[in-house]
Amino acid sequence: MSFLKNLFSRKPKKYVDERGIYFHVACNRCKVVTRVRADRQYDLNRTDNGFEWRKTIVCPKCYSQMAAEVTFDGRYTPLKQEISAGAFVEPPAEND
Ligand SMILES: [Zn+2]
Repeated sequence: MSFLKNLFSRKPKKYVDERGIYFHVACNRCKVVTRVRADRQYDLNRTDNGFEWRKTIVCPKCYSQMAAEVTFDGRYTPLKQEISAGAFVEPPAEND
């Protein structure tokens, strides 16, 4: 009985993506919002003061290319976000 109780009370561990930094970008042409993941370990380049991330994001709807460039401090806090042909937006509510 206690075995069963343990079995059912065990909650699945929630997966936390500790390496991922997520951005939402809206395409200037069609306004579709795309979620983009930057991996702290593989996608960021070290700079003198922290990190930088450069990525060309292709809109899944109209295939417009958006060149994103984000500068972070040493604690992965974004300091500057720039993007061509698009805009950084807040993540939609109730989504992950
Ligand atoms: Zn688009």
